[in-house]
Amino acid sequence: MTTPHAIVAAGVVIALSMVVICAVVLYQSRLDAMARATETSRNLALLAERDIERNFELYALSLQAVVDGVNDPEVMNAPRLRGFALFDRAATATYLGSMLVLDAESNIVIDSARDVPRKANFSDRQYFKVHRDNPNVGLYVGDPYASRLRNGAPSIPLSRRLSRPDGSFAGVVLIALQLEYFHKLFAALSLGPHGSVALIARDGTMVMRQPYDVKVIGRNIRNASTFKQFVSAPEGSFSDTSTLDGIERLYYFKNLPNLPLIIMVAEAHADIYSAWEHRALIIASLMAALALGFIGLSFAFGAQLRRRMRAESELAMLARTDGLTGLNNRRTLGEILDQEWRRAKRTRSVLSLLFVDIDRFKMYNDTYGHQAGDDALAAVAKCIGDNIRRPTDSAARYGGEEFVVVLPDTSPEGAASIAEKIRAAISNLGIEHRASEYGRVTASIGAAAWTPEQDVDVSAVIRAADQALYDAKATGRNRVAQSKLIPAY
Ligand code: GH3
Ligand code: MG
Ligand code: MG
Repeated sequence: MTTPHAIVAAGVVIALSMVVICAVVLYQSRLDAMARATETSRNLALLAERDIERNFELYALSLQAVVDGVNDPEVMNAPRLRGFALFDRAATATYLGSMLVLDAESNIVIDSARDVPRKANFSDRQYFKVHRDNPNVGLYVGDPYASRLRNGAPSIPLSRRLSRPDGSFAGVVLIALQLEYFHKLFAALSLGPHGSVALIARDGTMVMRQPYDVKVIGRNIRNASTFKQFVSAPEGSFSDTSTLDGIERLYYFKNLPNLPLIIMVAEAHADIYSAWEHRALIIASLMAALALGFIGLSFAFGAQLRRRMRAESELAMLARTDGLTGLNNRRTLGEILDQEWRRAKRTRSVLSLLFVDIDRFKMYNDTYGHQAGDDALAAVAKCIGDNIRRPTDSAARYGGEEFVVVLPDTSPEGAASIAEKIRAAISNLGIEHRASEYGRVTASIGAAAWTPEQDVDVSAVIRAADQALYDAKATGRNRVAQSKLIPAY
């Protein structure tokens, strides 16, 4: 992988890591919001539970006091004081509808609110039937009903049975508690715009629910999925969708330990998460913008770097090559010779050199002009380049219209054959050269080879090739001559 690619990849990885970390933190804070909501619901339920249990305990004591008084002949025989003896101050509590003593036929015999009892019969009420038919119910908390004495105000009955000394049914003592009490209690609990609090009888009858809807009171929710969970454990929490209003909520419920009632506190998911969602939206969009920006910058930086590297390598290439011919320049030839000379000595292999010089080139320039001379020079250079095949072979412009071909690990015979190939190829270019004895552009080539047994340095080999070239020129041009100073073998 190139550096620009690595930079882009690293940028993308860093940006994605930032996004992942941000997502994890946001998810964690979402879990925190849920945990906090559970805690809040539990606390609210506990507050409500304490209040309800304390009130019910007071009412239960008051009921017991009435039962005791009714069974006390001394109290019952003092009609004027009877009211004081039977009904303590609890009878005047705000949400207490009425305290009544009913006889075995369910007619009111003693009324806490009046000296002369109101005329009413409650033999159809559930609590009456329960006490009449079961001697051992004790304190009974009934289902909500609309009060006949108080213009249909919704109430729930707390009652106890009155028994004669022989155990037979003598009537019922009743406290009607106004549901307004729960209504006020629940309305004071703050649970967000879509929260809900409810008090449900253990048989599924809705006693009170916030948000308040008169139609819901008294409805039986026994078949609702939420209610099935309420009765499955003493207390707990879960998420579900309400059958009453279709809102998804986190439910906390508790079965009151001393009363046949279940208190339920539910906070809507929308409320629990609304603050979180607002914050998450801002953070997530900022993060996404940052990540995209970061990735964009990485790409821009990578592209910039790629351009620079390309420009640098082009510059390096230009510095190494000759502008006119595209072959290695003189400076690069020096490096190549240096390197190949050391390698040849190290590996004890033959190093061959060719010196190529175009014939009668001054005359070519004179005849066809300098521009045509340049074109011919480039064509010859390309021809030389095309005729060296091995990757280790290299050609360079030595200067003017002279070229050097370096042939590492190449025998004198091999070098001579390559030289002949180049010579023939240049001649076969067929570039017209009227002033030449051959009528076309030709070149002479001098070849020299260094073998490991020769104790000379590289400049001697170059001189030998140059000398061979001189011989080629002297013996008629357009030919290859091999060095005699450094024997081929
Ligand atoms: P010969 O080698 O056959 O003895 O004759 P020559 O005329 O080629 O002699 P020499 O090699 O000494 O001549 C070099 C000439 O090549 C001189 C110059 O006119 C020409 N020359 C050198 N470099 C360039 C170049 O870059 N462009 C052009 N157009 N001509 C060049
Ligand atoms: Mg020359
Ligand atoms: Mg020449």
